[in-house]
Amino acid sequence: MYDISKVREDFPILSRTVYGKPLVYLDNAATTQKPLCVLDAMRDEYLNVNANVHRGIHWLSQQATDLHEAARETVRKFINARSTAEIVFTRGTTESLNLVASSFCEGFMDEGDEVIVSNVEHHSNIVPWQILAQRKGIVLKVIPINEDGVFDMEAFQQLITERTKLVSVAHVSNVMGTINPVREIIRIAHTYDIPVMLDGAQSVPHFAVDVQELDCEFLAFSGHKVYGPTGIGVLYGKEEWLDKLPPYQGGGEMIETVSFNGTTFERPPLKFEAGTPDYVATHGLATALRYVTALGMDNIHQHEQMLTDYAIDQLRNIPNIRFFGVPNNTDNAQTTHQHDAAISFLIGDIHPMDLGTLLDQLGIAVRTGHHCAQPLMERFGINGTVRVSFALYNTKEEVDTLVAGIERVVKMF
Ligand code: PLP
Repeated sequence: MYDISKVREDFPILSRTVYGKPLVYLDNAATTQKPLCVLDAMRDEYLNVNANVHRGIHWLSQQATDLHEAARETVRKFINARSTAEIVFTRGTTESLNLVASSFCEGFMDEGDEVIVSNVEHHSNIVPWQILAQRKGIVLKVIPINEDGVFDMEAFQQLITERTKLVSVAHVSNVMGTINPVREIIRIAHTYDIPVMLDGAQSVPHFAVDVQELDCEFLAFSGHKVYGPTGIGVLYGKEEWLDKLPPYQGGGEMIETVSFNGTTFERPPLKFEAGTPDYVATHGLATALRYVTALGMDNIHQHEQMLTDYAIDQLRNIPNIRFFGVPNNTDNAQTTHQHDAAISFLIGDIHPMDLGTLLDQLGIAVRTGHHCAQPLMERFGINGTVRVSFALYNTKEEVDTLVAGIERVVKMF
């Protein structure tokens, strides 16, 4: 089963101290720590296999290419895509979202056409569309949420018109940890033949995501949030869609032939992978995905749910706490399947930055601020929250330390 102390040994950084206190790392929605196997795999590749991929006929290049393409297969399997042609390597969720926004808009949207996002989006699923709204006159529509952070599905249906070309929403809110009703969104959108893109940055690390079962057209996620290296991410796209989207960037790797009379492009996924890819990072990412698969995504999910439920229960005892995405009225408590491993809150009128800074002095790393979701802050009429977010290596004892830390800080105000 799930042996948490053994798991923690895989992450040496967790045993370091901060200001002389044991580190309690609760900022996992921002980035996760890396297990030794990922660092070893990347070091080993640089030490023993390093060569540019796809281009060389020499032995090293072929070895590096094999590792890189094996990583694509590992990602395919992890999210259960039909084919490796559906797995595009990018720099992260942000680049994946920008790629689709840019190519989809160029290929399939005219002035006045609409894209629907939600009020909980990370800036990376808002700003690319706003840039295109300015450049091309497309229209951005927003699914509203209720006081508990839950999508207003009736309003969603009313936003759909014959000009709606794409729905692009977060699978899980990075601020509140709420799991959005993406199955229902996809079902409704498909009845109008509208494709759906999911921002999976906060879902893929926490529970098994099966793109065939979800039936989404696109899914974006980041390697560094799922125990892999920084600078690598994934765009999943249904093959039929990747085939018809125009390329995003031009350069090496993505072409078939180049002439001043005209250029032809590779088939997906290479069509979207201009330039030398971060082939060491893809190997690192694949190692991370094999690591979490070996632990079991269901075990990880269960463990994190246990921590989240426990933390919400304990935090409820703190006077004047106000949750976001968790009902503040206990009679109304959400069932666990609607909530994932992040919790956002404010306490009385203590500024989140003050709370975060004082917790940091106790060795407790939490995130404070708008979490790159300013429109969500605007919705709640606040400037920011304190967010704690869990990963597979966190413990109940760390939750106790957090709660004790908050109690100590609260007394100072
Ligand atoms: N979308 C969501 C929901 C996120 O939580 C994040 C990062 O916090 C991103 C997008 C952006 O991810 P990245 O910075 O790795 O591209």
